Amino acid sequence: MVNTGKNKRELKTVLDDTFQVLNGTLREHKAKLESRETGAIHFIGEGIARVKGLPDVKLNELIRFSDNKTGIAFNLDPEEIGIVLLDEAQTLKAGSEVYRTGRVLDTPVGDALLGRVVDSLGRPLDERGPLHASQRQPIEREAPGILDRAPVSVPLQTGILVIDALIPIGRGQRELILGDRQTGKTSIAVNAIINQRDKDVICVYCSIGQKISGVAKVIDDLRKYGAMEKCIVVVATGEDSPGLRFAAPYAATSMAEYFMEQGKDVLIVYDDLSHHARTYREISLLLRRPPAREAYPGDIFYIHSRLLERSTHLSKEYGGGSLTALPIVETEAQNISAYIPTNLISITDGQIYLSPELFQKGILPALDAGKSVSRVGGKAQLSAYHEIAGNSRLSYSQFEELESFARFGTRLDERTRKILARGQHIREILKQSPYDLLSAPEQVVILLSVTQGLFDNVPIGKMNEVKKAVRKVTLEKLSDIGKRILADEKLNNDDKKAILGTVEKTIQSGNYSKKGKEIGNGNV
Ligand code: ATP
Ligand code: MG
Repeated sequence: MVNTGKNKRELKTVLDDTFQVLNGTLREHKAKLESRETGAIHFIGEGIARVKGLPDVKLNELIRFSDNKTGIAFNLDPEEIGIVLLDEAQTLKAGSEVYRTGRVLDTPVGDALLGRVVDSLGRPLDERGPLHASQRQPIEREAPGILDRAPVSVPLQTGILVIDALIPIGRGQRELILGDRQTGKTSIAVNAIINQRDKDVICVYCSIGQKISGVAKVIDDLRKYGAMEKCIVVVATGEDSPGLRFAAPYAATSMAEYFMEQGKDVLIVYDDLSHHARTYREISLLLRRPPAREAYPGDIFYIHSRLLERSTHLSKEYGGGSLTALPIVETEAQNISAYIPTNLISITDGQIYLSPELFQKGILPALDAGKSVSRVGGKAQLSAYHEIAGNSRLSYSQFEELESFARFGTRLDERTRKILARGQHIREILKQSPYDLLSAPEQVVILLSVTQGLFDNVPIGKMNEVKKAVRKVTLEKLSDIGKRILADEKLNNDDKKAILGTVEKTIQSGNYSKKGKEIGNGNV
């Protein structure tokens, strides 16, 4: 009985306290009036909505719908606003309310993104839980000004011999990779990323409109070859809304810029910008913008130039970081003078052209040296390459020119036969399988040996074996010279002698050379 009385008293005090707290809160609470601009959906279609109202909305402002989904204000007409949807709009209908947010589209940035797979809005797509990024940045940002930039001066080694030797890429450069479908474009970009795994370069791979299976393979390869931890993968597949596909490269660039602004070197791959251009065309046609050449809207050049201008090498005062871009573009029937490819060629600092013919012949990577160029990378190439790479480029282009004539069975003079034989050997050493990446010392030793004619007497069929043996001996016996090559030192005559002597011994001891037998005897 006593207990019950006590309980009742306790209950009463608790209730009194609660009442007092509630009373206080109510007294403090003041009803606030908030003005919010609203509008209503007038038309909703595949990936877009047209809205009436929202008189003060700004261009590219983020718009929120009644179901909390978002879109971007793309077209501001006097009568209505064209909005690109960022999510599926299954529950929205004509008449639904829309609100301004007063913000532009932004994405999380920071170290938390490393090793993650995210969508264009930075939402995780992998199974590693929520993202704990402390900062956000708008997806569209102004490119650094002219005075904030420094010339490209440091090489970005891709580990692919034909690129590092003939079409070198520098940190802060924009090098376009173009070619027909299935010519090895993605493979080159992914290999370039994998080659950064033991270097100080952070990578961002942005997939736009690709098949999910293709993206899964890229992620799998990055994981398998240990490059994922220093990499961010941004994915907008063909299934995603056009808004997400359009925003993907800009968001990926903002994620990359965060590291560049901290003075780091970053490599970004856009795979691929033809899909991006098509997405923009789709959005523009749906929003009834006037179509121009090939039905693309008039500002198609600008959407890519403002994206790629964000890649640069910052000057020392701004931390000296760099953002190197490898945009990919798909050509149709090898037409590199089509609208989008020519736009991109003119925006970038060079292009790597992959030829389906070389691919069919099994010359892989199928890089066409005649149509590929690097406009700034040569200055950034390591010193040891300078003379050697120039020689091999010359020999190789002479060979390519002569090769077509030799096919007619013309009688060849001694000099031509030599050029053909040398060219065949250069072609053989430039062949490379994916993920079998070469360090700079390995590349220099192989190039020096071939330009000095050490392989001239090795049968073509044995070149692969010789290459392996030379790579092994470089790592084992020429490590001191290798270190100096990496430290950007020039090779002196003694170094060259040491390299050639070691390689010659390797060829002799392995019995690879077939002295006396002429190679490439017109049978090209
Ligand atoms: P898509 O147009 O479908 O995007 P793509 O041009 O990106 O194709 P990849 O997917 O990189 O081409 O490569 C096409 C095929 O060629 C792949 O199966 C790949 O394994 C193979 N391949 C690419 N490079 C090489 C190489 N150096 N050696 C051998 N095979 C290669
Ligand atoms: Mg591809």
